[in-house]
Amino acid sequence: MERKQYQLGDIVQMKKPHPCGSNEMEVIRLGMDIRIKCVGCKHSVLVPRAKFESKLKKVLRSNPSASELKAD
Ligand SMILES: [Zn+2]
Repeated sequence: MERKQYQLGDIVQMKKPHPCGSNEMEVIRLGMDIRIKCVGCKHSVLVPRAKFESKLKKVLRSNPSASELKAD
């Protein structure tokens, strides 16, 4: 079984798309609860970690700003 790894700033895909039509969410806060922001409409929601992991489909992009920093 694939292990889901995510970190702050990652763009993730959820099993159900957001009502606005976008299915890309950015992880903007990690903790007991996880805050994700819809890339399409910028709406953010706070979800318990267990719920987030059950709804997470896959990580699309790992922390875009971190990869910019190490790009040469
Ligand atoms: Zn949205």
